[in-house]
Amino acid sequence: MNVYNSLTRRVEELRPLEGDTIRLYTCGPTVYNFAHIGNFRAYAFEDVLRRAIQFNGMKVRQVMNLTDVDDKTIRGANSAGVALGDYTKTYKDAFFADLKKLNIQPAEVYPAATDHIPEMIALVQKLMEKGVAYQSEDGSVYFKVREFPGYGKLAHIDFDSQRTGLRCAADEYDKENVGDFALWKAWEESDGPVGWDSPWGRGRPGWHIECSAMSMKYLGETFDLHTGGIDNLFPHHENEIAQAEAATGKEFVRMWMHCAHLRVNGEKMSKSAGNFFTLRDLMEKGYTGREIRYVLINAHYRSGLNFAFSALEDARKALEKIDRCVEAVGKLKGSGAERSGSEPEWARKCLAEFADAVNDDLNLPRAFAAVFDLVRRTNGAASAMSGEEAGGVLGVFRRMDEVLGVVFFGNEKKEVEVPADVRSLLDARAEARKAKNWAESDRLRDAIAALGWSVKDSRDGQSVSPR
Ligand SMILES: [Zn+2]
Repeated sequence: MNVYNSLTRRVEELRPLEGDTIRLYTCGPTVYNFAHIGNFRAYAFEDVLRRAIQFNGMKVRQVMNLTDVDDKTIRGANSAGVALGDYTKTYKDAFFADLKKLNIQPAEVYPAATDHIPEMIALVQKLMEKGVAYQSEDGSVYFKVREFPGYGKLAHIDFDSQRTGLRCAADEYDKENVGDFALWKAWEESDGPVGWDSPWGRGRPGWHIECSAMSMKYLGETFDLHTGGIDNLFPHHENEIAQAEAATGKEFVRMWMHCAHLRVNGEKMSKSAGNFFTLRDLMEKGYTGREIRYVLINAHYRSGLNFAFSALEDARKALEKIDRCVEAVGKLKGSGAERSGSEPEWARKCLAEFADAVNDDLNLPRAFAAVFDLVRRTNGAASAMSGEEAGGVLGVFRRMDEVLGVVFFGNEKKEVEVPADVRSLLDARAEARKAKNWAESDRLRDAIAALGWSVKDSRDGQSVSPR
């Protein structure tokens, strides 16, 4: 399996450094709001990546962090008048519900930043001891970029030759150098009740240190693969490398992969342009998680993806075509066994082409072409196939879907039971209403809606139904 490594800017073979497991770190969401489809493009790409690794017979240990303390989460919690943990829980729950709707396989570990403050403090302390960090007058701790010679190697920027350009600006008095970034942020009035004690006083960790500390805790000081959206490449990932390698003296990550931006109708997604969509926005318009997933993974991950409603319509038609074919093959198979190996030669060739495309830096447009080639040939062969051959073709579809995760095999079930996360939001909402906290009540209604349920209030209290 070959992938493009952003660090070397070359296509290289992805092989585990140790044993048969790829250790993978994927930057996760900041849980201050509902994730938008641009975020989900990256998570869907990472899902295809982990599925492709397994498709090739390797194992995956994936860690995805949850950023549950930063400027935005603190601002949100304080303005809603709720504890930070209660505020972020709503969006953590919504995030996991969204992943399920998009058929994204769960990572092995979802560490939350607030559960790992001691690990982050220890890492900052190590950097202080090594002389690559300093405390400024305002109490914050910064990483001294010029003390790490490899700085810029991921972004391919030569900072040595630009050193004068990084000179201290007048308004950056607290830092020695404008390129320096915060490892630990001193407590400010606006942080309210949020803060932890540290050797440098009360405060909270910077965003970058979170990923270095948690990735090394769960994956080791050197691991195989780190991914994220292209906007994470610099400075976030560059800073992660600097922190980790300055602390350990070892290579942090062997390979880096980044997925390109998503645009909507050719424009950058923004709330003011009216083209900003969360997953629930699209589901409210009647599209399914499967259709959205199809659009998100159907472009090459390193190309920009233009998200348009016409693409969702096309996805619906394309998926119907696959469903019809799979259903017909299922009937042909009858009660026979479903397994690859007994398929006709042309189906085997489609699978080989599919695998080749996946292993060519996750070339999904080519992989989908192989799927539709299989559909066309299967429809063409139709009743000329024996039950055994049909079982083999079905096995090929199933093997392809190990990577794609979009094919229905006639076994999807409808959920009617109210899930536990919805029930706990309902309880919180009942409390809020009792306390006449209408803003919080409305916010929780939105959170419940994001999980796919709508709330009705009556004299008897609240009731929910699936949307
Ligand atoms: Zn990160």
